[in-house]
Amino acid sequence: MTDWQELDKKYIMNYINRIPVTLVRGEGARVWDDNGREYLDFVGGTAVNSLGHCHPVVIEAVTEQAQVLTQASALYYSVPQVKLAQLLVENSCLDKAFICNSGTEANEGAVKLARRYGHLKLNGAYEVITTKNSFHGRTLVMTAATGQENMQKPYVPLPPGFKHVAYSDIEAIKAATTDRTCAIMLEPIQGEGGVNVPDDDYLSKVRAWCDEKGILLILDEIQTGVGRIGSLFGYQEYGVEPDIMSLAKGMGSGIPIGAFLAKDSAAVFVPGDHGSTFGGNALTCAVAYAVIKYIVENNIAGNAKKVGQYLIEGLKGLQQKYPFITDVRGRGLLVAIGLDRDISQEVMMACLERGLLVNRVKPNALRFIPPLIIGNSEVDEALGILDKALSTV
Ligand SMILES: *Cc1c(COP(=O)(O)O)cnc(C)c1O
Repeated sequence: MTDWQELDKKYIMNYINRIPVTLVRGEGARVWDDNGREYLDFVGGTAVNSLGHCHPVVIEAVTEQAQVLTQASALYYSVPQVKLAQLLVENSCLDKAFICNSGTEANEGAVKLARRYGHLKLNGAYEVITTKNSFHGRTLVMTAATGQENMQKPYVPLPPGFKHVAYSDIEAIKAATTDRTCAIMLEPIQGEGGVNVPDDDYLSKVRAWCDEKGILLILDEIQTGVGRIGSLFGYQEYGVEPDIMSLAKGMGSGIPIGAFLAKDSAAVFVPGDHGSTFGGNALTCAVAYAVIKYIVENNIAGNAKKVGQYLIEGLKGLQQKYPFITDVRGRGLLVAIGLDRDISQEVMMACLERGLLVNRVKPNALRFIPPLIIGNSEVDEALGILDKALSTV
């Protein structure tokens, strides 16, 4: 049998410590490795496979669109792109969309738009306030936006224009705001930073501050959007409207796509200001349209809320049994447990051996981000495996 892991080490850059499993097939919330072993997938492509793996809606959209037109060019009008943008706008508080290919690109575009706004309306203000432990992507500019020193250090000097303040701390934002500030950029819940849930009134206080200062609120909903935390968009959970919102991960249930949307008042681009060769291509737009339409029509966000609550209760049950679980945090199906020691790697591997994929989001935290279509029975199965894994550490 081919040793794909050896070949990976030989041919692929050494940028990540992979888990020693080669996944070759998926269906719903299950995946299989090249030895035919089955796993229950509570990672879901890192919060990407919103409808699980190989959902019929995705297969149909890929197959149909691939036979018609995959990519023309941004130079011409495109039916799937218009349909996707219309669907996003009609189901959100935003008015205009730009479709791109990934989360990082969506945030780059969102920050470019905010800078454009600053040039035109705020006397050249350009600075964006973001938070510590945030994650906004991997390009140089988004590395600068990300509030995590370990990701920044290897790449200094980074592009200027970002200030990092404590999360869920409105006073810190107020203190950091100056004449140069054009926007505040936040995740409604910090995902990669460890599933950090802010105070309930944090986002509404930030919104009020942005209104008072006339600056923009950018919500990075790349992880929280598209049903993940119990509403179609995370901001709806907090009753707050952003001026700009970025999306990606769950949009296409596995195909690469991202977007940023803005209110008409903030959508200040003019022709030539931005672009993307692959962005808005017919193939990925047709899939994302089908996925999001399915999510809306079948209230998949409501399912995430209900099943997420069940998961959180189950994890709290395990916390009673294992006092080294410090807390259960999250919303919808973006959930984590904190651990009082750095044993998440060990627990993750013990789960893997027993047929469950979970994500070690921090050395002392495990994250659960399954497909949004799971039911309580998958949660029961995952909790059973996690219980056994926890009993070994
Ligand atoms: C994953 C993620 C990104 C980066 O998205 P990519 O598609 O990996 O470029 C940015 N922001 C948040 C909140 C994310 O979760």
